Amino acid sequence: MDHGRIDLAPHPFTTNFGHGDVRMTTRFLDDDGMSSLFSTMHETGHALYDQGISPKYQGTSLGHAVSSGTHESQSRLWENLVGRSREFWRFAYPTMGMLFPAQLGNVDLEHFYRGINRVEPSFIRVEADEATYNMHIILRMELEIGLIEGSLATRDLPEVWNSKMKEYLGITPENDSVGVLQDVHWSGGMIGYFPTYALGNLISAQLWHKMTSDHPGIPEQMATGHFETILGWLRENIHQHGSRYDSMDLVQRVTGERLNADYYIEYLTGKYKEIYRF
Ligand SMILES: [Zn+2]
Repeated sequence: MDHGRIDLAPHPFTTNFGHGDVRMTTRFLDDDGMSSLFSTMHETGHALYDQGISPKYQGTSLGHAVSSGTHESQSRLWENLVGRSREFWRFAYPTMGMLFPAQLGNVDLEHFYRGINRVEPSFIRVEADEATYNMHIILRMELEIGLIEGSLATRDLPEVWNSKMKEYLGITPENDSVGVLQDVHWSGGMIGYFPTYALGNLISAQLWHKMTSDHPGIPEQMATGHFETILGWLRENIHQHGSRYDSMDLVQRVTGERLNADYYIEYLTGKYKEIYRF
């Protein structure tokens, strides 16, 4: 907290002005108390990465994160693998209950845990649960390919968006605000950016698998409020290197194999099988 600051902004983000000055924002939604916490954990993952790059790279071309996908792996790891885990809430829920007695007084830990991990098709990408999130990315990526290849005209985007939503998630947006117009990326010129979120999810699960194999005590540590092993492992294996290794080479170097989607599928299957008992 001595190497940056946190402020309020309508949309959470992280930026930095050097390793010693990393700044992030959060927001509070009146109708969604958890949104602030999870987006703060997400941005904290980005901020820890920026703070952890080796000072010896400062001011050189290696002194920044290697890729957006790797950056998202750090944010999604803290937000989901830590923040949406049962162990984290064994530690944090008593405090939460004390802070929100009216809302949570009658809710036990198990109901709360299942509540924050409810799977439901939804219109808005940034609020999607872990199981449906990547469908939002696949939809956008397919449209981007169509736009770039010329097989899809811009004017046809709303209609094609809606039909893909129906096909992938079974729901149809009522208007384009909750459909094709919900993101800032395309209007800002960021074409091809969305897949970095899905890549981040895949990388985070593969890193987590390796980290918890190296340190099987991590879940129990989380349950007692200790996160030093997680941060230390990320510092040593990911953060400090900055842009020294290409992102896919870094995954190989750290986990011993190329990016492999099986880890994410295993993570989702294991987690939701237990929650939904299928
Ligand atoms: Zn992010």
